[in-house]
Amino acid sequence: MAVQTVASTSNPAVDLGPAAALSCRECGHRVPLGPVFACEECFGPLEIAYDFSAYDTEELRGRIEAGPANIWRYAPLLPVPADVADKPNLNPGWTKLVKADNLARELGVTGGLFVKDDSGNPTHSFKDRVVAQALEAARAFGFTTLSCSSTGNLAGAVGAAAARAGFRSCVFIPHDLEQGKVVMAAVYGGELVGIEGNYDDVNRFCSELIGDPAGEGWGFVNVNLRPYYAEGSKTLAYEICEQLGWRLPDQIVVPIASGSQLTKIDKGLQELIKLGLVEDRPYVIFGAQAEGCSPVSTAFKAGHDVVRPQKPNTIAKSLAIGNPADGPYVLDIARRTGGAVEDVTDAEVVDAIKLLARTEGIFAETAGGVTVGVTRKLLKDGLLDPAKTTVVLNTGDGLKTLDAVAGTGLSATIRPTLDSFREAGLA
Ligand SMILES: *Cc1c(COP(=O)(O)O)cnc(C)c1O
Ligand SMILES: [Zn+2]
Repeated sequence: MAVQTVASTSNPAVDLGPAAALSCRECGHRVPLGPVFACEECFGPLEIAYDFSAYDTEELRGRIEAGPANIWRYAPLLPVPADVADKPNLNPGWTKLVKADNLARELGVTGGLFVKDDSGNPTHSFKDRVVAQALEAARAFGFTTLSCSSTGNLAGAVGAAAARAGFRSCVFIPHDLEQGKVVMAAVYGGELVGIEGNYDDVNRFCSELIGDPAGEGWGFVNVNLRPYYAEGSKTLAYEICEQLGWRLPDQIVVPIASGSQLTKIDKGLQELIKLGLVEDRPYVIFGAQAEGCSPVSTAFKAGHDVVRPQKPNTIAKSLAIGNPADGPYVLDIARRTGGAVEDVTDAEVVDAIKLLARTEGIFAETAGGVTVGVTRKLLKDGLLDPAKTTVVLNTGDGLKTLDAVAGTGLSATIRPTLDSFREAGLA
């Protein structure tokens, strides 16, 4: 990763609400808010440090509950200005937490099973949450072009957010993504560039572009704006707890691509505990990968602290990051909370997509098949407790990955007559 120094980019006039500074996850070194992502001392990842000291728990709870039905109800806990809800933004979030009783029966879960269904976001994936934060940071730093490296969903989320906010967008994807993802990314009118290579090649390219005059003045949502972008995933934790009646779930199953989402869900839960918005008691976080791209689950099962990169080969393309930046943090969190990281085969992914659709009427993309499939496997292996409240994330929409279930179709083709209908044996 290219490293930028802070001196030229820090700006004391930047108003991103409670965000006070950037701080290094590894060594704690602090720098002013700016479009930087790596520590100048140790190259560790920078993340947002907040000042929440002025908040009174019950006053904050009341403010959140009175807020809009989108992620901006949590604006006091995010790196955004206080008037964020008035700005042109896609306003994602506050998606349904579906009580999945049919799926629970099928899987033998008795403690309450919920699907947090993020296919309900404006561009039908969880990525709208993270892009919304990056957009506000881009505005604050004066960028006018939004860019990213994407496994598919991020490209659409950036294209749509840029369109709404009046930014130019130019996004980069592996050239061989699903048609649904390509169309979804292109339709908003920004530039979409296919790169001959996999996601890790695309990401490397973007890191080079950032350091080049060709990319000057561009806000790369998941590179130079990554510390802001990443905070969007905290809203999943906030919403799940608020929707459970300000309670922590006992267990959460989260898909892993770069591992950012899982890491920030844990950060969000920790913040709610510290702020007194939920009771301080243990929760368990499980990570889910596809076998064809399972660098984190492989490391977890081997007891390693480092994640060895893999070359992805799976239908779960939105999770196909072979060299996940937050992999080691995911391992820490899974181990600290008593969870695990598990993977399933592509056949199990397809099976799980159909299981969720047939039991709950939710059509998930392949990433949702991964989390449901892994949930089933964890239950079978006795790692997930069926008697505890469990939340499974569905992070995307099956309409974008139709090929995964291509064999699904008509029950029969008949002439438009009752005789023909009876003959088909469906009466
Ligand atoms: C990007 C993505 C994820 C996970 O992303 P992280 O890089 O781990 O934060 C999960 N599901 C879907 C559908 C995605 O597009
Ligand atoms: Zn550092």
